[in-house]
Amino acid sequence: MAQSSTETDWVSRFADEVIAESERRAPGKPVVVASGLSPSGPIHLGNLREVMTPHLVADEIRRRGYEVRHLISWDDYDRYRKVPKGIDGVDESWAEHIGRPLTSVPAPKGSSFPNWAEHFKAAMTESLAELGVEYDGISQTAQYTSGAYREQILHAMRHRGDIDAILAQYRTKKDPKAQAEAQAKKSQKPVDEAELEAAEGSGAAAEDDGTGSAGYFPYKPYCGSCDKDLTTVTAYDDDTTEMTYTCTACGFSETVRLSEFNRGKLVWKVDWPMRWAYEGVVFEPSGVDHSSPGSSFQVGGQIVSIFDGKQPIGPMYAFVGISGMAKMSSSRGGVPTPADALKIMEPQLLRWLYARRRPNQSFKIAFDQEIQRLYDEWDKLEAKVADGTVLPADAAAHSRAARTAAGDLPRTPRPLPYRTLASVVDITAGHEDQTLRILSELDPANPVTDLDEVRPRLDRAESWISTHVPADARTVVRSEPDTELLGSLDDEGRESLRLLLEGLDTHWSLDGLTTLVYGVPKVMAGLTPDAKPTPELKVAQRAFFALLYRLLVSRETGPRLPTLLLAVGADRVRKLLGA
Ligand SMILES: [Zn+2]
Repeated sequence: MAQSSTETDWVSRFADEVIAESERRAPGKPVVVASGLSPSGPIHLGNLREVMTPHLVADEIRRRGYEVRHLISWDDYDRYRKVPKGIDGVDESWAEHIGRPLTSVPAPKGSSFPNWAEHFKAAMTESLAELGVEYDGISQTAQYTSGAYREQILHAMRHRGDIDAILAQYRTKKDPKAQAEAQAKKSQKPVDEAELEAAEGSGAAAEDDGTGSAGYFPYKPYCGSCDKDLTTVTAYDDDTTEMTYTCTACGFSETVRLSEFNRGKLVWKVDWPMRWAYEGVVFEPSGVDHSSPGSSFQVGGQIVSIFDGKQPIGPMYAFVGISGMAKMSSSRGGVPTPADALKIMEPQLLRWLYARRRPNQSFKIAFDQEIQRLYDEWDKLEAKVADGTVLPADAAAHSRAARTAAGDLPRTPRPLPYRTLASVVDITAGHEDQTLRILSELDPANPVTDLDEVRPRLDRAESWISTHVPADARTVVRSEPDTELLGSLDDEGRESLRLLLEGLDTHWSLDGLTTLVYGVPKVMAGLTPDAKPTPELKVAQRAFFALLYRLLVSRETGPRLPTLLLAVGADRVRKLLGA
């Protein structure tokens, strides 16, 4: 039964269902959940949902004291389908490898990894470790080439007629990519290239299902001469397991004994349900491309019975979008990866995005200004958790983000607001001594004395500023006063600057300067510093702030003024404001 503190969130509800189903199917055995990733290129940040959905459910099940295996199937024995654009160290010559297993394709030039699949797996593995995802990685190359699936392959060949009959019910249906395009057309939405990439990346969606001129065979050998999968099985004998195939790429042909042969794989639509049965998978969500009628998930639900298995509980998850990165990534030719997100936000934040939304809700991961608002929201949530005013569902999402069953994720000891850190590093361009000076002045009663107190959040903010904030949005503090503007000020303008400068020394902290910059227009209007703001006063404040921005950074806006003043430093503020 669900625990009362977490019963309101989707993770807990799935955990209830998965535990109950696992008990029915395999009493007393570890609960098995699964994800599949194809290292056919950089693994798209959107595909992280394939891992995070079962991870969060597995983690909840672990927290309840059950044993769980979260399998991540590396689909590294899939064929190399195309040369992705914009990958460093890769040129058109990689096209000659199309049709070979991903583990037989050379890694990009300069890579320390032995092949293509390992190269792209490594980046993902690193991100998963940072995110606290505990899993058993299973290389499909290792499984197939070691003969681990021998019985299942022979079984599928024996039952090829049954499999063919199931597949035949769907063969007239459109493929998922065509469906995505048709859907987009219907809803008048432009086709999202990233969504299509994700659809393609999450399984061999468009792979042929094994139909050939000599009949239906669910197994495809990689050619013994050229290593490509452009092979056709021409004959198979159930008794001897002798299989003859020819290669349309190089003309090679041979007869092998499938009971001893380890260089090939089941076609995708058979491979997937075979593994559900082989591993006893109880929960494996999939993207919308796998959940439509005639999709691999639906067809697999019928094929799995041939292997005497059952379809897992498999919610469909919605696509995860990316904001503020599309332009940058397309100009580089690459795709946003989980590692890109983890460069600008702590793992807790990225986990939280997945934990707080049900799998069927889409959301966006922000690489633009929105990340500052996201961090504000997270800090507010942390404050509510700390003072006990948090709502149960929000508390559950927070807990799933901040820790796993194994313990708390490493956190920033002193989590200053992200937007403050971003403003400071924007102005100091990452100079550590200046950054420390400014941060130590934010709260003089309890100063930051070492930048390690504000790391790693500081590093994430710095990385965001330097890689995702366009040059024309960066803050450049003037080196010389704007004498023309200063000379054009009327008495009132000069007086307001005088009042500000007069108060600098006594207000030199984040709170103090906040009071000061809002207070000067009040005094100018004949009000007391604690007067309630009126519409007129707000207009005067906005005009005063715009003047300060123009004098300090030659623009009408910028980082919050108290932060900006601290960052510029009292001496330089005096110089630029004409004292
Ligand atoms: Zn060949």
